[in-house]
Amino acid sequence: MSTHRLKYTYLAIASALIFLTTTGLWQLLHKNTHTPTITVPAGDQSVIPLAIIGSGPAGLSAALYGARAKIHTVVFEGPQPGGQLTTTSLIENWPGVGSILGKKVIEVAREQAASFGALFSTEEIVSIDCKTYPYTLHTSSGTTLSAFTIILATGASPKRLNVPGEDEYWGKGVTSCAVCDAPFFKDKNVVVVGGGDSAAEEALQLVPFAKNITLLVRGGSMRASAIMQARLKDYPQIAVRYNSAIATISGDGLHVTGITLSDGASMAIDGVFLAIGHTPNINLLKNSVTITTQDLIALQQGTQKTSLPGIFAAGDVADGRYRQAGVASGDGIKAGLDALEFLREHGYIDTIAVKLSPRLYNPAKLARKPLESIESEQQFTERVVHGALPVVVDFYSDYCPSCDALLPHLERLAAAHDGSIDIVKVNIMQLPSIAKAYTITAAPTIALFENGTEIQR
Ligand code: FAD
Repeated sequence: MSTHRLKYTYLAIASALIFLTTTGLWQLLHKNTHTPTITVPAGDQSVIPLAIIGSGPAGLSAALYGARAKIHTVVFEGPQPGGQLTTTSLIENWPGVGSILGKKVIEVAREQAASFGALFSTEEIVSIDCKTYPYTLHTSSGTTLSAFTIILATGASPKRLNVPGEDEYWGKGVTSCAVCDAPFFKDKNVVVVGGGDSAAEEALQLVPFAKNITLLVRGGSMRASAIMQARLKDYPQIAVRYNSAIATISGDGLHVTGITLSDGASMAIDGVFLAIGHTPNINLLKNSVTITTQDLIALQQGTQKTSLPGIFAAGDVADGRYRQAGVASGDGIKAGLDALEFLREHGYIDTIAVKLSPRLYNPAKLARKPLESIESEQQFTERVVHGALPVVVDFYSDYCPSCDALLPHLERLAAAHDGSIDIVKVNIMQLPSIAKAYTITAAPTIALFENGTEIQR
């Protein structure tokens, strides 16, 4: 070959490589090199034919389809059982129902999936090993599991401001959930940060409680829909301040007392509600599958397939455009169907299912002990102040998704430490005098008491 032709051949190869790597196609081709065949795995590790990570509308819808097709389906509920919908109150755009609590939608969907045999684990998945097939899941309780198919439905997390004081006062006046924390701001002055529909909704949820609500909008106009902006105008206690961003959050050590804005102005306020968007929770797969330029899990067109065989994604983790419960649910259904097709096509037949049955993972075996509820001040004195054992108190409130999320973990601790630690719960809305006496200003607050004294919070 002449030097001239050789030079052009090198150039063509180099261009092709640059094209493949910059478009992400290389990653796609590279990841798809192995075609898995499903057999009974060696060893004694527990196995999950269909593992679903996340229990929002996407995960629950996928679980319904998996379980109804009689596939052993395990849903890992993770840090926020029920997902984002549990942080809102009424939703009016869940098709087929007029107006319904977000929490109720989740409750019914969960029961429906469970009625067909879907199993639920309160564990979080901490990492996934995709190098060998079946894939390996590592859970927060230290269990290692094999999975034939995985549906990632980990949703999205609220974005933070990253300003001084935000971390220090998180849960002490800084929050991203009006529906959980609004009752703590009765007759107080608060700001809501953001200019979209979520910010408008947070402000409206604060109306029955807060005295003054100021929406801080970074630009010169709001992105919220016209209908939401019109609703804000119905309430004189809501003001909108444009071209405003928080520079610092300050407080008295216990609670937020004020903010300074980037233009140097300061405001004396008691609460900061963040409504500035969400980050897709892609961490578990970000080094294993193709990710889009918006940091979403990339899907093969028209499917919920990721760039790895047998791994699917659904809901807000792969959708930065719609971010709606109905859409997440539809994605979950598609992911469920894609996973079922994958199992069929890769040899998951009845004989394998039968052989596997003693090794199928059953999270129901993880013991939980329901927490006893303190119903009166007298009971608090007897059980906590004069308790013979160290006592952990879960101060919770109604309509508090993070309280709901924490409860199963505390119940597992209660089972594991039965007889050595007493764990009880106190509803601070029903027993405000106890909340006041112990300056509980956010739910959930977990406090450890020994010999009647609070020693750690
Ligand atoms: P999510 O609901 O975010 O659920 C993610 C799940 O993943 C959680 O269960 C979490 O615990 C789990 N998870 C995360 N990491 C792990 C891990 N490592 N291991 C195990 N599990 C993990 N949509 C509407 O259609 N109508 C509305 O009226 C509406 N109102 C809303 C109001 C608010 C305040 C908010 C925040 C959202 C609202 N939405 C609404 C949007 C809707 O809630 C979301 O689009 C939808 O919940 C996305 O569902 P998802 O299943 O993808 O994820």
